[in-house]
Amino acid sequence: MNERRLRLGHLYPSLMNVYGDRGNILCLTRRCRLRGIELEVTELEVGDALAADGFDLLFMGGAQDREQRLVGDDLSKLKGEALREAVETGVVFLSVCGGYQLAGKSYRGADGEELAGAGVFDLHTVHPGAKAKRLIGNLVARWEGGTLAGFENHGGRTYLGPGCEPLAKVVRGHGNDGQSGFEGARYKNAFGCYLHGPVLPKNPSLADRLVSLALERRFGDGTLPALEDGLEQRAHEAALRIRN
Ligand code: GLN
Repeated sequence: MNERRLRLGHLYPSLMNVYGDRGNILCLTRRCRLRGIELEVTELEVGDALAADGFDLLFMGGAQDREQRLVGDDLSKLKGEALREAVETGVVFLSVCGGYQLAGKSYRGADGEELAGAGVFDLHTVHPGAKAKRLIGNLVARWEGGTLAGFENHGGRTYLGPGCEPLAKVVRGHGNDGQSGFEGARYKNAFGCYLHGPVLPKNPSLADRLVSLALERRFGDGTLPALEDGLEQRAHEAALRIRN
Protein backbone atom coordinates (compact mmCIF):
# COMPACT_ATOMS: atom_id res chain seq x y z
CA MET A 1 0.00 0.00 0.00
CA ASN A 2 2.81 2.39 0.89
CA GLU A 3 4.32 2.73 -2.56
CA ARG A 4 0.95 3.48 -4.15
CA ARG A 5 0.93 6.84 -5.88
CA LEU A 6 -1.89 8.48 -7.84
CA ARG A 7 -1.74 11.44 -10.21
CA LEU A 8 -4.51 14.02 -10.21
CA GLY A 9 -4.97 16.73 -12.85
CA HIS A 10 -6.80 19.80 -11.52
CA LEU A 11 -8.42 21.49 -14.52
CA TYR A 12 -8.50 25.31 -14.53
CA PRO A 13 -8.01 25.84 -10.76
CA SER A 14 -7.78 29.63 -11.05
CA LEU A 15 -10.87 30.04 -13.27
CA MET A 16 -13.13 27.24 -12.06
CA ASN A 17 -13.24 27.54 -8.29
CA VAL A 18 -16.41 28.81 -6.62
CA TYR A 19 -17.78 27.99 -3.15
CA GLY A 20 -14.55 26.29 -2.15
CA ASP A 21 -14.37 23.72 -4.95
CA ARG A 22 -10.60 23.57 -4.42
CA GLY A 23 -11.36 21.95 -1.05
CA ASN A 24 -12.11 18.78 -2.98
CA ILE A 25 -8.42 18.47 -3.80
CA LEU A 26 -7.45 18.97 -0.14
CA CYS A 27 -9.94 16.29 0.87
CA LEU A 28 -8.67 13.76 -1.67
CA THR A 29 -5.05 14.49 -0.77
CA ARG A 30 -5.73 13.99 2.93
CA ARG A 31 -7.81 10.83 2.60
CA CYS A 32 -5.09 9.36 0.37
CA ARG A 33 -2.28 10.39 2.72
CA LEU A 34 -3.99 8.78 5.72
CA ARG A 35 -3.84 5.50 3.79
CA GLY A 36 -0.20 5.90 2.75
CA ILE A 37 -1.12 6.88 -0.83
CA GLU A 38 0.65 9.87 -2.31
CA LEU A 39 -1.60 12.05 -4.48
CA GLU A 40 0.46 14.11 -6.89
CA VAL A 41 -1.54 17.16 -8.01
CA THR A 42 -0.85 19.00 -11.28
CA GLU A 43 -2.69 22.22 -12.05
CA LEU A 44 -3.73 22.63 -15.68
CA GLU A 45 -4.75 26.12 -16.73
CA VAL A 46 -5.84 27.59 -20.08
CA GLY A 47 -3.06 26.92 -22.60
CA ASP A 48 -1.63 23.86 -20.80
CA ALA A 49 -1.84 20.61 -22.74
CA LEU A 50 -3.59 17.56 -21.26
CA ALA A 51 -2.27 14.07 -22.01
CA ALA A 52 -5.07 11.47 -22.00
CA ASP A 53 -2.85 8.98 -20.17
CA GLY A 54 -1.22 11.53 -17.86
CA PHE A 55 -3.55 11.17 -14.86
CA ASP A 56 -5.47 8.69 -12.74
CA LEU A 57 -7.99 11.32 -11.61
CA LEU A 58 -9.19 14.61 -13.04
CA PHE A 59 -11.19 17.37 -11.39
CA MET A 60 -12.94 20.49 -12.70
CA GLY A 61 -14.87 22.88 -10.43
CA GLY A 62 -17.54 25.47 -11.10
CA ALA A 63 -17.65 29.09 -12.25
CA GLN A 64 -19.90 31.62 -13.88
CA ASP A 65 -20.56 32.13 -17.58
CA ARG A 66 -17.64 34.53 -18.13
CA GLU A 67 -15.04 32.01 -16.96
CA GLN A 68 -16.91 29.20 -18.69
CA ARG A 69 -16.46 30.98 -22.01
CA LEU A 70 -12.66 30.99 -21.59
CA VAL A 71 -12.63 27.38 -20.47
CA GLY A 72 -15.04 26.26 -23.23
CA ASP A 73 -12.70 27.78 -25.77
CA ASP A 74 -9.67 26.00 -24.29
CA LEU A 75 -11.55 22.69 -24.16
CA SER A 76 -12.48 22.99 -27.83
CA LYS A 77 -8.98 23.93 -28.92
CA LEU A 78 -6.76 22.00 -26.57
CA LYS A 79 -8.02 19.64 -23.88
CA GLY A 80 -11.48 18.33 -24.86
CA GLU A 81 -10.33 15.41 -26.97
CA ALA A 82 -7.82 14.20 -24.38
CA LEU A 83 -10.45 14.53 -21.65
CA ARG A 84 -12.89 12.36 -23.62
CA GLU A 85 -10.17 9.81 -24.32
CA ALA A 86 -9.14 9.75 -20.65
CA VAL A 87 -12.72 9.04 -19.56
CA GLU A 88 -13.14 6.37 -22.25
CA THR A 89 -10.12 4.56 -20.80
CA GLY A 90 -11.55 4.65 -17.27
CA VAL A 91 -9.79 7.67 -15.79
CA VAL A 92 -11.77 8.95 -12.79
CA PHE A 93 -13.23 12.41 -13.41
CA LEU A 94 -15.26 14.62 -11.08
CA SER A 95 -16.83 17.81 -12.38
CA VAL A 96 -18.93 20.29 -10.41
CA CYS A 97 -21.55 22.80 -11.57
CA GLY A 98 -20.02 25.01 -14.29
CA GLY A 99 -17.42 22.27 -14.85
CA TYR A 100 -20.17 19.65 -15.03
CA GLN A 101 -22.03 21.78 -17.59
CA LEU A 102 -18.90 22.07 -19.73
CA ALA A 103 -18.23 18.33 -19.46
CA GLY A 104 -21.50 17.85 -21.37
CA LYS A 105 -22.09 18.47 -25.06
CA SER A 106 -23.09 22.11 -24.87
CA TYR A 107 -23.95 24.97 -22.54
CA ARG A 108 -26.20 27.82 -23.63
CA GLY A 109 -25.40 30.71 -21.31
CA ALA A 110 -27.68 33.39 -19.85
CA ASP A 111 -26.97 35.62 -22.88
CA GLY A 112 -28.07 32.89 -25.32
CA GLU A 113 -24.58 32.18 -26.61
CA GLU A 114 -23.93 28.46 -27.01
CA LEU A 115 -20.61 27.00 -25.90
CA ALA A 116 -19.44 23.60 -27.06
CA GLY A 117 -18.60 21.34 -24.13
CA ALA A 118 -16.05 18.54 -23.89
CA GLY A 119 -18.74 15.94 -24.66
CA VAL A 120 -17.69 13.55 -21.89
CA PHE A 121 -21.34 13.24 -20.86
CA ASP A 122 -24.32 12.90 -23.18
CA LEU A 123 -26.08 15.94 -21.75
CA HIS A 124 -26.71 19.55 -22.56
CA THR A 125 -27.44 22.59 -20.41
CA VAL A 126 -29.56 25.63 -21.11
CA HIS A 127 -29.61 28.79 -19.00
CA PRO A 128 -33.06 30.36 -19.55
CA GLY A 129 -31.72 33.90 -19.11
CA ALA A 130 -30.68 36.35 -16.42
CA LYS A 131 -34.27 36.95 -15.31
CA ALA A 132 -35.06 33.25 -14.78
CA LYS A 133 -35.12 31.82 -11.28
CA ARG A 134 -31.77 30.42 -10.20
CA LEU A 135 -31.74 26.98 -8.63
CA ILE A 136 -30.23 27.78 -5.26
CA GLY A 137 -30.08 26.08 -1.90
CA ASN A 138 -28.99 23.03 0.01
CA LEU A 139 -29.46 19.79 -1.84
CA VAL A 140 -29.84 16.25 -0.55
CA ALA A 141 -29.86 13.34 -2.97
CA ARG A 142 -29.96 9.55 -2.69
CA TRP A 143 -26.95 7.83 -4.17
CA GLU A 144 -26.10 4.12 -4.24
CA GLY A 145 -27.93 3.40 -1.03
CA GLY A 146 -26.44 6.42 0.75
CA THR A 147 -26.85 10.15 0.51
CA LEU A 148 -25.08 13.12 -1.04
CA ALA A 149 -25.38 16.62 0.38
CA GLY A 150 -24.18 20.00 -0.79
CA PHE A 151 -25.05 23.49 -1.90
CA GLU A 152 -26.28 24.26 -5.41
CA ASN A 153 -26.47 27.62 -7.15
CA HIS A 154 -27.00 27.52 -10.89
CA GLY A 155 -29.10 29.15 -13.56
CA GLY A 156 -28.42 26.42 -16.12
CA ARG A 157 -30.84 23.50 -16.47
CA THR A 158 -29.13 20.24 -17.40
CA TYR A 159 -30.87 17.60 -19.54
CA LEU A 160 -29.43 14.08 -19.74
CA GLY A 161 -29.36 12.05 -22.95
CA PRO A 162 -29.50 8.24 -23.11
CA GLY A 163 -25.69 7.94 -23.10
CA CYS A 164 -25.25 8.70 -19.40
CA GLU A 165 -26.98 7.78 -16.14
CA PRO A 166 -28.24 10.16 -13.48
CA LEU A 167 -25.84 10.15 -10.54
CA ALA A 168 -28.44 10.54 -7.79
CA LYS A 169 -32.13 11.13 -7.03
CA VAL A 170 -33.10 14.43 -5.47
CA VAL A 171 -34.59 14.19 -1.97
CA ARG A 172 -34.54 17.93 -1.27
CA GLY A 173 -33.46 20.72 -3.62
CA HIS A 174 -33.47 21.22 -7.39
CA GLY A 175 -30.77 19.08 -9.00
CA ASN A 176 -30.17 18.96 -12.76
CA ASP A 177 -33.15 20.94 -13.98
CA GLY A 178 -35.50 21.43 -11.04
CA GLN A 179 -38.06 19.00 -12.56
CA SER A 180 -36.67 15.60 -13.44
CA GLY A 181 -35.86 14.63 -9.86
CA PHE A 182 -32.30 13.74 -10.86
CA GLU A 183 -29.03 15.20 -9.72
CA GLY A 184 -25.77 14.85 -11.63
CA ALA A 185 -24.59 12.34 -14.18
CA ARG A 186 -22.41 9.27 -14.37
CA TYR A 187 -20.61 7.75 -17.35
CA LYS A 188 -17.92 5.10 -16.83
CA ASN A 189 -15.74 6.57 -14.04
CA ALA A 190 -16.84 10.15 -14.74
CA PHE A 191 -19.09 11.86 -12.19
CA GLY A 192 -20.79 15.22 -12.61
CA CYS A 193 -22.87 17.05 -10.04
CA TYR A 194 -24.16 20.46 -8.94
CA LEU A 195 -22.84 20.09 -5.39
CA HIS A 196 -20.56 22.75 -4.04
CA GLY A 197 -19.64 23.18 -0.46
CA PRO A 198 -17.15 21.69 -1.41
CA VAL A 199 -18.75 18.33 -2.16
CA LEU A 200 -16.10 15.81 -1.10
CA PRO A 201 -15.41 16.87 2.52
CA LYS A 202 -19.19 16.75 3.10
CA ASN A 203 -19.48 13.39 1.35
CA PRO A 204 -16.51 11.22 2.31
CA SER A 205 -18.11 8.14 0.75
CA LEU A 206 -17.99 9.84 -2.66
CA ALA A 207 -14.37 10.90 -2.07
CA ASP A 208 -13.41 7.32 -1.22
CA ARG A 209 -15.31 5.99 -4.20
CA LEU A 210 -13.22 8.13 -6.54
CA VAL A 211 -9.94 7.07 -4.93
CA SER A 212 -10.96 3.42 -4.91
CA LEU A 213 -11.91 3.46 -8.61
CA ALA A 214 -8.58 5.11 -9.46
CA LEU A 215 -6.63 2.51 -7.44
CA GLU A 216 -8.58 -0.32 -9.02
CA ARG A 217 -7.84 0.91 -12.51
CA ARG A 218 -4.16 1.58 -11.85
CA PHE A 219 -3.18 -1.26 -9.53
CA GLY A 220 -6.03 -3.77 -9.90
CA ASP A 221 -7.05 -3.39 -6.27
CA GLY A 222 -9.30 -0.61 -5.02
CA THR A 223 -9.40 -1.71 -1.40
CA LEU A 224 -9.28 1.20 1.02
CA PRO A 225 -8.81 0.72 4.75
CA ALA A 226 -11.54 2.46 6.78
CA LEU A 227 -10.60 5.75 8.40
CA GLU A 228 -11.42 7.14 11.82
CA ASP A 229 -14.15 9.23 10.27
CA GLY A 230 -16.39 10.51 13.06
CA LEU A 231 -15.91 14.20 12.28
CA GLU A 232 -16.49 13.74 8.55
CA GLN A 233 -19.61 11.68 9.16
CA ARG A 234 -20.96 14.36 11.49
CA ALA A 235 -20.27 17.01 8.81
CA HIS A 236 -22.26 14.89 6.35
CA GLU A 237 -25.12 14.44 8.78
CA ALA A 238 -25.17 18.16 9.60
CA ALA A 239 -25.31 18.94 5.86
CA LEU A 240 -28.28 16.58 5.50
CA ARG A 241 -30.17 18.45 8.20
CA ILE A 242 -29.80 21.95 6.74
CA ARG A 243 -33.13 23.34 5.56
CA ASN A 244 -33.35 26.20 3.09
N1 GLN B 1 -22.79 29.53 -14.89
C1 GLN B 1 -23.46 28.41 -14.44
C2 GLN B 1 -24.90 28.64 -14.07
O1 GLN B 1 -25.25 29.62 -13.41
C3 GLN B 1 -22.65 27.70 -13.35
C4 GLN B 1 -22.68 28.30 -11.97
C5 GLN B 1 -21.75 27.63 -10.98
O2 GLN B 1 -20.79 26.91 -11.33
N2 GLN B 1 -21.97 27.87 -9.69
O3 GLN B 1 -25.71 27.86 -14.45
